[in-house]
Amino acid sequence: MPGTRTHCPYCALQCAMMLNPSPTDADAVTVAGRDFPTNRGGLCKKGWTAAELLVSPDRVLEPLLRQPDGSFEPASWSDALDLVAAKLRGTRAEHGADAVGVFGGGGLTNEKAYQLGKFTRVALGSSRIDYNGRFCMSSAAAAGNRAFGLDRGLPFRVHDLDTADTILILGSNVAQTMPPFIGHLEGARAAGGLVVVDPRRTATARLTDNGAGMHVQPTPGSDLVLLLGLTHLVIAKKLTDQHYLHARTTGFDAVRRSVNQWWPTRVQEHTGVPVWQLRELARRLAAGAARGQATGNGTYILTGRGVEQHVDGTDTATAAINLSLVLGLVGTTHSGYGTLTGQGNGQGGREHGQKCDQLPGYRKISDPAARAHVAGVWSVDPDSLPGVGLPAVELLGALGEPGGIRCLLVHGSNVVVSAPNANRVRAALKTLDFLVVADFFFSETAVLADVVLPVTQWAEEEGTMTSLEGRVIRRRLAVAAPEGVRSELWIWQELARRLDSASTFSAEAGEVFDELCRASAGGLADYSGLSYELLDSEEPAFWPYPAGSTGTPRLFLDRFAHPDGRAHLVAVQARRLGAPAQVDGTLTLITGRLLEHYQSGTQTRRVRELADAQPEARLQLHPATAEQLGIIDEAWVEVSNDRGTVRCRAQVSTDIRFDTVFLPFHFAGDQRANLLTDDETDPVSGMPEFKKTTVRVRALVEA
Ligand code: SF4
Repeated sequence: MPGTRTHCPYCALQCAMMLNPSPTDADAVTVAGRDFPTNRGGLCKKGWTAAELLVSPDRVLEPLLRQPDGSFEPASWSDALDLVAAKLRGTRAEHGADAVGVFGGGGLTNEKAYQLGKFTRVALGSSRIDYNGRFCMSSAAAAGNRAFGLDRGLPFRVHDLDTADTILILGSNVAQTMPPFIGHLEGARAAGGLVVVDPRRTATARLTDNGAGMHVQPTPGSDLVLLLGLTHLVIAKKLTDQHYLHARTTGFDAVRRSVNQWWPTRVQEHTGVPVWQLRELARRLAAGAARGQATGNGTYILTGRGVEQHVDGTDTATAAINLSLVLGLVGTTHSGYGTLTGQGNGQGGREHGQKCDQLPGYRKISDPAARAHVAGVWSVDPDSLPGVGLPAVELLGALGEPGGIRCLLVHGSNVVVSAPNANRVRAALKTLDFLVVADFFFSETAVLADVVLPVTQWAEEEGTMTSLEGRVIRRRLAVAAPEGVRSELWIWQELARRLDSASTFSAEAGEVFDELCRASAGGLADYSGLSYELLDSEEPAFWPYPAGSTGTPRLFLDRFAHPDGRAHLVAVQARRLGAPAQVDGTLTLITGRLLEHYQSGTQTRRVRELADAQPEARLQLHPATAEQLGIIDEAWVEVSNDRGTVRCRAQVSTDIRFDTVFLPFHFAGDQRANLLTDDETDPVSGMPEFKKTTVRVRALVEA
């Protein structure tokens, strides 16, 4: 039997793989890497072990209904969906349509992301949908829209990085989060031009060793000041690309004035980055930009969640874009700015209508023309479509509140682990009248549900994903799903029918994709020239891909997406400069990822090899800090603040600053890093503060 060409179920690099029939088990498959421009046959250990997800003994295999005594009992699909539909009807009748909320996920296929938005607005009539991508890409997306009029994570191909001789990576540990990606950094490393900005000496920071580049280690949360200071230096030293700024941008004078106050000694004071390193970094970037124009070996600036997951994340990403624009990098054939999307379909998941303010095709739900177009595709009255809903943190904050949400549907998300201030979220979920969770595992959120709906995963279904470079790819069915599970597309079709929806809902992924393409036509993320047939040919398919076109591997070569065709520099300021850490005995907590785990760990904690390698959370802290607190390596520690307490072992390491500690966010129970994080959000994007939290640490056992 031939193997199946598909892609990894996890991160946004979407490495290509073959699923081959297992020689020992007729119902199973084995994974092999497949040659593709992004991964060139390589996979990380998450990808290599992904087939284990399909045969996990932890799968939920039939609908489960909570009983009066709190236990779960299996039920038929018919009974489960009848109950859900009755509760949805009852909630709407008693409290109004907005009393039903929907929480989606950035791992859902494009078809599901699209259909979930349609289901919420048409079948439920609710405005209250948002998704976990709000915790991931929202700040970078807001900054991209602000500056370019369009947000596509990488507006160029991943393998375009191969020819760069200067790459600045801010706040992303790609060597652990997407290991095959680092092959694309080799050109810059060979030229000594890889620069990594991270408070920790991560695996990615170590790639700069031995003359390959430079590691810059700022105080957590000071990235915005660092970027303002670099922009100041580039302007002050007259290293800007004046021809580019004049021909292709607006707003330079305002940005020039806004960075005036960020002279190097002041930036050093607030970031801890020495003046010599600031000057050297500005010089390298400007030299790289100039060299790129002459040689075509470009300069790229890439941001990740480390600088974006802050309450000033949008402004920080905007400052990174401003720096890219004053250097003349964006919209050229050889250089650029990009943001490294994390979740598997973090890109597609934010294009098709899962966001509270968007309709398919990246259209604004408040735009009458957009509403009319999409309503036409859905065969409904535009006036029947609800307006802007609530971004994720506000949506979760409305659970159980007066006038808030009484009934919640969760698809592809595990908010009890992944949302900030997790204790509050868990308590709020318990106040709901009715909670429905669709998942393939019994996640920490599913445990709280009234109804658990078991769904197909990854290799058990057809669909498409859109990777971090805006490439639309096919996810293919390789194995039959267990008998008792169903696709979400089927579930929404069945619920819509029970709710007498005004529009029809297909359960066939190909039909949904065709409809998605029609709905996206004329929008910013235009898929109208795409089809499964074209994608199956494996021709590169980068959106925008309007009908009659061949797609857009590199964006903005001729014009930006604003009506004036220009990129907009936007002056931003550092609103929080923060007291130096440890003045009152506290430390700054950063949260992040490990090589072995993905997102809330619902999947990877169930893969034996990954769980054996990283079975539990460990708090990384500096030896000097550990000594001061009487903590030795592997000892149990308590990390706490007024939101919660985490208990875990210590990992003593010189890879972290003395004033900072690090916790991975993949673990459950009292090892949830998000027990500690704050649900204050960025006023533009709604991004919570995940990367700068004040905590106290103490030894649980005397050293
Ligand atoms: Fe590739 Fe990411 Fe999958 Fe690893 S997790 S194999 S980097 S897609």
